[in-house]
Amino acid sequence: MSSKAKILLIYTGGTIGMRKDFNTGALKAFNFSKLLQRVPELKQLDCEIETFTFDNPIDSSNMNPQEWANIATIIEDKYNAFDGFVVLHGSDTMSYSASALSFMLENLAKPVIFTGSQLPIGDLRTDAKENLITAIQIASLQANGHPVVSEVCLYFEYKLYRGNRTTKISAEHFKAFTSPNYPALVDSGVNLKIRSELLLPRQNSNDLVVHKKLDNNVVIVKMFPGMSETVLEAILAIPSLKGVVLETYGSGNAPTEDWFIALLVKAINRGVHIVNVTQCSGGSVNMGQYETSTSMKEIGIISGKDITTEAAITKLMYLLSLNIPLKEFKAIYETAIRGEIGE
Ligand code: ASP
Repeated sequence: MSSKAKILLIYTGGTIGMRKDFNTGALKAFNFSKLLQRVPELKQLDCEIETFTFDNPIDSSNMNPQEWANIATIIEDKYNAFDGFVVLHGSDTMSYSASALSFMLENLAKPVIFTGSQLPIGDLRTDAKENLITAIQIASLQANGHPVVSEVCLYFEYKLYRGNRTTKISAEHFKAFTSPNYPALVDSGVNLKIRSELLLPRQNSNDLVVHKKLDNNVVIVKMFPGMSETVLEAILAIPSLKGVVLETYGSGNAPTEDWFIALLVKAINRGVHIVNVTQCSGGSVNMGQYETSTSMKEIGIISGKDITTEAAITKLMYLLSLNIPLKEFKAIYETAIRGEIGE
């Protein structure tokens, strides 16, 4: 039996496997088999690679919970046959997908590494090859017969991040992602510098539980000076609404006007969960630090602490799908379940 790690490469779409449409000049996904032809270097890696491609590779702007469930199902079906998974995905919504999958794959004991690229793999100046090769290499790492990494990660431009800590910051630079509130797990230089103390502890590999249903009766509301009462009232009155991620200012601050707090109270009273996250790219919500967040603390708004908006909305979709009793929801949301939030 071969001792080489077995890696499943799952191609969902994205620039990495796109080429220019002859007629329109726009980038479109193309046949995945050609992707591998373009990277003969993969044969030099010390692992066995198999590939799985979505029937219709997509631009990640078309990602949705059903597609996430499809990715989760592939991983579930192939879980015992492979040591690690590399998911090729468009960069635009990659942080949402990596966050969603981190919640959907409970008790994960193997690496699931998302990667992609800013330029197609056929482009002379492409960043795709390094991203792909190193993501596979990290997914193959084993120590004492176990995978070194056992969580959902995102690899891009020489850094491995915890997936649910990331956010896309550039549509231009090769360094397209950052992890504002949690350090990189691996730095890729001349050597791979693995920061073991930052990794999630390994779970028992037999216990993978895959949650395929998410509840998307949720919305992200970004505060801005001048937001009207009529607009916020209309959003919060949506009959099917179950959860709101409210992007506030600084350390979780918002207007102190009576109408604003009254609308939030009304929504909470009809069972809508409201999570306070900051619009800042780094730092944490701390309700009560300023007068402009004291009322929100008092009325029972959930603190998103230092969570990213991408992780906040997908965590909301995930927890809502579990039918958690109203009284317990806030405490569970405010607790890290996949390393997505600081203690
Ligand atoms: N629009 C592309 C996508 O997200 C961009 C990329 O792949 O980087 O699918």
